[in-house]
Amino acid sequence: MTRVALVTGGTRGIGAAISIALKQAGYTVAANYAGNDEAANAFKAETGIPVYKWDVSSYEACAAGIANVEADLGPVDVLVNNAGITRDAMFHKMTPQQWGEVIGTNLTGLFNMTHPVWSGMRDRGFGRVINISSINGQKGQMGQANYSAAKAGDLGFTKSLAQEGAAKGVTVNAICPGYIGTEMVRAVPEKVLNERIIPQIPVGRLGEPEEIARCVVFLASDDAGFITGSTISANGGQFFA
Ligand code: NDP
Repeated sequence: MTRVALVTGGTRGIGAAISIALKQAGYTVAANYAGNDEAANAFKAETGIPVYKWDVSSYEACAAGIANVEADLGPVDVLVNNAGITRDAMFHKMTPQQWGEVIGTNLTGLFNMTHPVWSGMRDRGFGRVINISSINGQKGQMGQANYSAAKAGDLGFTKSLAQEGAAKGVTVNAICPGYIGTEMVRAVPEKVLNERIIPQIPVGRLGEPEEIARCVVFLASDDAGFITGSTISANGGQFFA
């Protein structure tokens, strides 16, 4: 039986690279997304990976969505909590809505997604939960108090759950990407990228989504069974946590 992997925000950017890498590694993969049907359908047509639309900030939607995935593909063995959003603003201008949306998706989303699969993983004696946090959760970032708070919270969540899952064969780890060349980052004007962003990265370039995906494939594997509660900082040497 192939293992089943569910990737939130798995249809675009880093998540799409993760879904594809897991499929190539032999998993049966399901990719969740929020609302961009065009991107999701194009991803599905290109990769053959089934896509499922729901909002990770809703507990009920997650429970129903996961039930659909499990009815179609079988129990989820590997959960990758990758879906994330930004609503940047300097704190004195940040609205409760900007705060709430980012916490709801980037932090509460991890509770909403992990809770429905947790008991099954424990009962079966195997599970992998891999949380995509961020360098900005480790070091903070001006204009991202909401995002940094949520991403730092993801790390606390990871370390606590790791302790609860360890004796049951369920590992929980986090990856903190630095600047990754997704559409969003590539859309930054070349001058800004070359003069302000890349000079902050000792390796001298942006990361590639596939480089994050390869970390996920490793953490999901049996080879990574002794690694739990850890954080992989994949940031080109920009920050040492
Ligand atoms: P993208 O914006 O390219 O893609 C985000 C994905 O998440 C999309 O599939 C989107 O769905 C989905 N999504 C967003 N909100 C929700 C929601 N409420 N429910 C379900 N799905 C949702 O993001 P990136 O690939 O850039 O980032 C992926 C992760 O990596 C995020 O957690 C981000 O914080 C983190 N990260 C990214 C970095 C970077 O440099 N890009 C650096 C550090 C961390 P839809 O297509 O429907 O909108």
